Amino acid sequence: MIYDEIEQQLAALDHQHLRRHRRVVDAPVGPHTAADGKALLSFCSNDYLGLAAHPAIVEALCAGARRWGAGSGASHLVGGHFRPHEELEEKLAEFVGLPRAITFSTGYMANLAVTPALVGRGDAVFADRLNHASLIDAALASRAEHKRYAHNDMAALEKLLAASDAKRKLILTDAVFSMDGDVALLPALFELAERYDAWLVIDDAHGFGVLGPQGRGSLAHFAIPASPRVVLMGTFGKAAGVAGAFVAGDTRVVEWLVNTARSYIFTTAAPPAVSCAVLQSLALIEQGDSLRAALQARIAQLRGGAAELCRQRGWQLAEQAVTTAIQPIVVGENKKVLDVSRALEAQGLWVPAIRPPTVPNGTARLRLSLSAAHREADVAVLLAALERLA
Ligand SMILES: *Cc1c(COP(=O)(O)O)cnc(C)c1O
Repeated sequence: MIYDEIEQQLAALDHQHLRRHRRVVDAPVGPHTAADGKALLSFCSNDYLGLAAHPAIVEALCAGARRWGAGSGASHLVGGHFRPHEELEEKLAEFVGLPRAITFSTGYMANLAVTPALVGRGDAVFADRLNHASLIDAALASRAEHKRYAHNDMAALEKLLAASDAKRKLILTDAVFSMDGDVALLPALFELAERYDAWLVIDDAHGFGVLGPQGRGSLAHFAIPASPRVVLMGTFGKAAGVAGAFVAGDTRVVEWLVNTARSYIFTTAAPPAVSCAVLQSLALIEQGDSLRAALQARIAQLRGGAAELCRQRGWQLAEQAVTTAIQPIVVGENKKVLDVSRALEAQGLWVPAIRPPTVPNGTARLRLSLSAAHREADVAVLLAALERLA
């Protein structure tokens, strides 16, 4: 029977405490939300600057739809590339300090485009072990050799680069690692890319809008030069509070993506109104120093309050040289992290339990994500709830 195997595999997921369920959210994105009919204080959103329900962005989306309609009608190359798409590309290139940018409907699709466009058979991808799933899928789709180095281990990476006789080399990394919240060593990675004549492809999904002056992202934070070997990807669904993604880099890279990237060519362009909303969001990000300061204050409050509590329970609060909105607490076993997450929920808190295969076996964790929209009192409620779990 064709369903025998699926039923067994689903049962196995239950047995390992790995079965996933979706909650139905009944309120706009924000710290005070409701899911499945229950009010919850949320620490699970990537809306780091609190922009997802911002009235000016909502209005830009509505005004964009009134001006341009709801749909784009076609792919970018076949008549679906509207004025707002073009304006957004120009604004993005200037914002991140690279020559040209191209937008995609999602970050997943942007990542699927880049690596296969730059390398193929006979080439090699050098990837951090903790890279996002979309980067892993992109490396596999490229058919280049996929060499993975231990997380942030620059000596291991250099060994792999030195030993490689691949025709073209590409270093592939998250800028802010999505389940650990720590940052890649971008200056060292850039130096290795220069020394070994490699591409450096950076996924800044969690740094864009949050890090660097005016929220220009991780490249700006580390003052990485606008080298032709750097390709930057960023998303609009997280700090920017909307949806979609971009890739920025040398004009030749972008021209090559326009002409060859399958996840760009064979899909309907995102609605132009989405570009209108993202343009409004970029203006708020650029002027958003007070939002970034509020976010950093909440991060400091959480880390300060949770350090001792984690030590007592044998949980690990990740070290972060650059503090980010992602603050995981590694609990260990799948069942344990689920129990903790459920106990928090009983106190009205929504803190996701992240389990394998999203994170390595034995490192199941609470993934707390903070937002500029959290108040001091919200984080205090979370800390008190964690305290009470004892
Ligand atoms: C969220 C995320 C993506 C995917 O972006 P979407 O726009 O949500 O498809 C890619 N890379 C990383 C590191 C992410 O966290």
